[in-house]
Amino acid sequence: MIGVLALQGDVREHQRALADCGMRSTLVRRREELAEVDALILPGGESTTMSRLLATFDLMQPLRARLAEGMPAYGSCAGMILLCREVLDGQPEQRQLAMLDAVVRRNAFGRQVDSFEADLDFAGLAGGPVRAVFIRAPWIEQAGLGVEVLARVPDMPAAGSAAGRIVAIRQGCVLATAFHPELTGDRRVHQLFCEMVQESSGAAQKQAPGRTQVRACR
Ligand code: GLN
Repeated sequence: MIGVLALQGDVREHQRALADCGMRSTLVRRREELAEVDALILPGGESTTMSRLLATFDLMQPLRARLAEGMPAYGSCAGMILLCREVLDGQPEQRQLAMLDAVVRRNAFGRQVDSFEADLDFAGLAGGPVRAVFIRAPWIEQAGLGVEVLARVPDMPAAGSAAGRIVAIRQGCVLATAFHPELTGDRRVHQLFCEMVQESSGAAQKQAPGRTQVRACR
């Protein structure tokens, strides 16, 4: 069962994408709901608001604890921001889940109106480039050695200062994209996450009962 953090943001779109991948999903707003899920999607929206609501709903610590145990997670856009260890151009009160060894810059593509679309080569996804929709999007300014870079903005003049920037990463069981695959019909990124969740729960079932779950993703 995959939870979608439902404090704010494009929750329904992620639920629809998961349903298209044949996965069951449920909304997570409370600690008890978080305890029930095998994995979590952090949607796009506004990371400062989500950070505040995580504190208000008393979810910050339990969520950090689940992530530290190895619960798979996927963050799109604002969700990506929350998962990184450090945010640039954030609000002073903004808090990080710090599960990705990466520095993320908020609203990096410019203070917008702007949305920006591009076709990205996405490592490990068959079937050609992924059409990526960026909306007041962040990019990854710096990624640690343990972080796998999955996609960058193409190095083309139309991309301006965004050219070559890192916009999709993975570290162990945590996946993040600066763009919103939940808004296009292409389900390959959600499919990748569902495979990560299935690998992780398959590995957890093989462990002896009573042992704490180890991180199953590479
Ligand atoms: N700019 C937003 C933030 O800082 C992210 C935008 C989005 O999720 N589309 O959280």
